[in-house]
Amino acid sequence: MQSPKFFIQFSAFSIVTIFILLFSCKKDDGEEENSISEKYAYTHIALLDFYKNDFIDNQTIVIDPETGTILDLFETGTKTISKEIKTIDMTGKFLIPGLIEGHGHIASEVGEQTAHGLSKIRAFFQSGITTVFDKAGNGIALKKLQETAEEKTEPLSKVYFASLVAGSDFYGDDNRVKPTAGDSEPGKVAWMTVLEDDTDVVKLVKEAKDFGSSALKLYMDITPENAKRVIEAAQNQNLPVWSHGTLFSAGPWDLEGIKSYAHADFLRDVVLENIPNAQEAFTEEGYDAIPYDLSTIDSEKMDAYFDLLIENKTVLDATLIVYTDTESEEAIIFSEKVTEKAHQKGVLIGAGSDSELGLFAELHLLHLKAKLSIIECIKAATLNNAISLNLDNQLGTIAKGKIADLVVLSKNPLNNLDNLKSVERVIKSGYEHPIN
Ligand SMILES: [Zn+2]
Repeated sequence: MQSPKFFIQFSAFSIVTIFILLFSCKKDDGEEENSISEKYAYTHIALLDFYKNDFIDNQTIVIDPETGTILDLFETGTKTISKEIKTIDMTGKFLIPGLIEGHGHIASEVGEQTAHGLSKIRAFFQSGITTVFDKAGNGIALKKLQETAEEKTEPLSKVYFASLVAGSDFYGDDNRVKPTAGDSEPGKVAWMTVLEDDTDVVKLVKEAKDFGSSALKLYMDITPENAKRVIEAAQNQNLPVWSHGTLFSAGPWDLEGIKSYAHADFLRDVVLENIPNAQEAFTEEGYDAIPYDLSTIDSEKMDAYFDLLIENKTVLDATLIVYTDTESEEAIIFSEKVTEKAHQKGVLIGAGSDSELGLFAELHLLHLKAKLSIIECIKAATLNNAISLNLDNQLGTIAKGKIADLVVLSKNPLNNLDNLKSVERVIKSGYEHPIN
């Protein structure tokens, strides 16, 4: 027989249990309460698939906010979902990978870089940009932004940034140097380093990595020999290298092994016999006086260069939008046509704006002027950008095991690029952010 004492204990236990159950049921009913640990599944959703080149209808995706990953994907109804997993019916909705702004500058203003950067990545996030690659800015501010944005519950795009590498000529008179250096001496800090003939490139790469940079950005006044040395050292230490096109005197052919080549107008230099150095280049009769010759786009040499980019999986960071304000009509047309041809040939095109006009303006140009289909534009802003930072095993597609950085849209973007703006939710490392 059970003693009365047991009954009293049992009843107390039951009351507590009922309370817990009631309390947790109530919490479950509150749909807007997002949890950082509770797994959930979207059912009946259309998923963007780059292999099928279309959305696949009626899918279920299981997401784990705790690990930040996609746990499973299957056609709705073909597997049973465990009772502990909350299900959300997403009939009529479209799921795409989180967008990546492949060429941002979020911390290059004078002073208050962190505040400027925060407002930028907050706005990016609202439009479905879950990640931004910063291609040179103030390293201290970028690190702070990166740390703040890493938190999945913060509605901010995640940040990856590069260390700028340039010859000493660049550090002399460029007006962007000071804000980028901050209180430090330009060229002498890990996020902004000088590359000369006697530079220890192994140390340069190591210091950039130790600082937290995810890539090197080669910029200006770099010889072919130094370009090759630093690319090799970076490859040995698994640090991707991005190039700001021609580096004076290193040209396109001296940059084998880089992960991204910006900007499309620099492809003009593929056919040049001699690339001037930084001192010679920027005189009136210098580099800027070289005409844009559209016939070079169809030359054998250009074809061979496209093959080199394809072989190395180098992404062309075309930045078409950046020319619309600043460059000549010839430069604009050349950039658009050469990007169109590169894409036709199979070169990976990345989407980055390098401009306050933003990623969506760049996507429109890639679509209208370089003739990328809408799905290819989305691929440029997701998978191809991820490839340029060796992050394609984690980001850029909707796949089991990948990081759950995702965007729920109410309208099909393949019908109209502007439908990319119909953002309802942004999922950051598995955590759901409703968007108003
Ligand atoms: Zn840039």
